Amino acid sequence: MTLDYDIVVIGAGHAGCEAAAAAARLGSRTLLLTMDMTKMASMSCNPAVGGVAKGQIVREIDALGGEMGRITDRTSVQFRMLNKSKGAAMWSPRAQCDKTRFSEEWRRVLENIPNLSIWQDAASQLLFDTPAEGRPRICGLRTRMGVEFTCRAVVLTAGTFLDGLMHCGEAHAEGGRAGDAASHGITECLRTMGFETGRMKTGTPARLDARSIRFDLLEPQFGDENPGKFSFSPDTEPVRDQMPCYLVYTSPEVHAILRSGFDRSPLFNGTIHGIGPRYCPSIEDKLRTFADKDQHQLFLEPEGRSTNEYYLNGFSSSLPWEIQWEALHKIRGFEHLQIYRPGYAIEYDYFPPTQLHHSLETKLVAGLFFAGQVNGTTGYEEAAAQGLMAGINAHRKLKGEEAVVLKRDEAYIGVLIDDLVTKGVDEPYRMFTSRAEYRILLRQDNADARLTPKGHEIGLVSEEQYAHFVKKNSLVESLVAYAHGQSVKISEINDYLKSVGTDPLTQGKKMYELLMRNQVTFGTLQDALPRLRRFIEERGIDREAIEEAEIQIKYKGYIEREKFIAAKLHRLENIAIPADFDFFSMNSLTIEARQKLSRIRPATIGQASRIPGVSPADVNVLLIKFGR
Ligand SMILES: Cc1cc2nc3c(=O)[nH]c(=O)nc-3n(C[C@H](O)[C@H](O)[C@H](O)COP(=O)(O)OP(=O)(O)OC[C@H]3O[C@@H](n4cnc5c(N)ncnc54)[C@H](O)[C@@H]3O)c2cc1C
Repeated sequence: MTLDYDIVVIGAGHAGCEAAAAAARLGSRTLLLTMDMTKMASMSCNPAVGGVAKGQIVREIDALGGEMGRITDRTSVQFRMLNKSKGAAMWSPRAQCDKTRFSEEWRRVLENIPNLSIWQDAASQLLFDTPAEGRPRICGLRTRMGVEFTCRAVVLTAGTFLDGLMHCGEAHAEGGRAGDAASHGITECLRTMGFETGRMKTGTPARLDARSIRFDLLEPQFGDENPGKFSFSPDTEPVRDQMPCYLVYTSPEVHAILRSGFDRSPLFNGTIHGIGPRYCPSIEDKLRTFADKDQHQLFLEPEGRSTNEYYLNGFSSSLPWEIQWEALHKIRGFEHLQIYRPGYAIEYDYFPPTQLHHSLETKLVAGLFFAGQVNGTTGYEEAAAQGLMAGINAHRKLKGEEAVVLKRDEAYIGVLIDDLVTKGVDEPYRMFTSRAEYRILLRQDNADARLTPKGHEIGLVSEEQYAHFVKKNSLVESLVAYAHGQSVKISEINDYLKSVGTDPLTQGKKMYELLMRNQVTFGTLQDALPRLRRFIEERGIDREAIEEAEIQIKYKGYIEREKFIAAKLHRLENIAIPADFDFFSMNSLTIEARQKLSRIRPATIGQASRIPGVSPADVNVLLIKFGR
């Protein structure tokens, strides 16, 4: 039994699993310490991965050499590319997963990583070295069973477990989520080191027994006919035998029953103090906010292939269980409903993330990294992304290497972490496409082009995955070059153009010019131009490469414009502010700016410019001082 490690990761949720896998694969002797080994990367809430902006994050995790995409592909029961009718920047992959298989697959992967040990227990105390000079350092931890581990870095990913308190009507119980104990000791320990903490809350709906549901009365929602996948690597396949989801609707009758329990709702009677996610409201919140609506749409999602359990997306609630049950019976198709468990809300501790560097290392304690829900975020994808970066950076810190910090025009992960450490959070943070300035650059299809070379350089992307990427890239380039080089005659194309509903040509054009029209795609153009089909088939250009080439051609103007703007703003990112600079010495800054800058201590003028309360005039003052 080893008691000394380079890195200990506390918690095997979505953040902890990615952190541990990355740190160990890079070569650090890593321990993954978690309260229950049978619940690794457990989906505490909905059995799905991805969605708008979140799907892009999963593609980025995969492109960097993380696991979430591959594990999702291996355990999906349904795949959909959302927003396909909108521009490519909005296309977002989403998969329903077999929840149990997802967790089992993570465990299988983790148990087979050399350098990675697992210990089932709860960390209850962190241990610090406090040198005479400089900041304190993490040097180990103690567990509930009294075991003491020494280490040089810790990644804390305790999720919703820190002093977790669950609510269902008037019933309240300590716990990290239903069926799991809460985690005590860590928050107190960090408070004594000077960390600020806060309280947040989230909620989950009831889980239903499929045997009691009249599916024949419900509206099915099927996966994509030709499903895609999350991972860029060739070792996963698109899902087969997809399972449908179903749409159901609430009604005035359902609402009346729910309202009858409002006086017993912990949300409304002052029991819950934590701040909840505004964009993921409980059903009781929705009834209050949209009081005039007669119905709300809900999605019934399967929890897996070998269970009767269904998740009712949109019906998160902490009303008394009998109110939830009674109301559910009034939904069409649920007249004989049996539930496995009611919905509930949970409150937990988090640490305002402005206490972190961009590497996710805390500013107060050297070697201590935070990732996931403890940073005030919500969602598996946001957690996994932070875990991956914290695992990479903990390893690099111990090696004396520079931290990997992704830029805002490079990845949603860069936007996520920059938002957290620069702006902080005042409610659970979830990623939206609107948070990114460079949405056309940060597409799901090009995550590999943006990040796989970096993942390879870091050492996480395998040679096989990298070779696959290089090949795809060259196929994309060859197809784009082909479209630029080929002239198309009126006689060979006008019938096709009319058939797809676009104007015929009056003179010959280059193939790429045709592809810039919305109606023209490589898919249909191949039927009109046999030489194009031959080119694609002879080179074995697959669906992903064709899609990528087409997006590059159609969005060329937008892509170049965003790259130009990003390059201009990089100049601000490159102007450093000394770490110990005294902002209060600058009278020309507003008082608010001086306070915020002193608290957050931005590393560059770019970062300073995004801090709420720092005005363009303040940025100009900083530019005069530090820039040109
Ligand atoms: C009731 C509920 C409802 C939710 N609803 C939503 C929602 O609607 N939308 C959404 O996006 N997200 C929701 N979430 C949040 C989602 O589950 C999290 O965002 C995600 O799981 C966070 O991942 P994580 O890795 O940070 O933490 P978690 O997945 O919570 O994992 C934490 C891990 O840390 C371990 N751990 C904790 N303390 C210790 C300790 N002291 N020692 C050792 N191990 C420890 C736990 O055993 C667990 O393995 C909900 C969560 C809950 C519980």
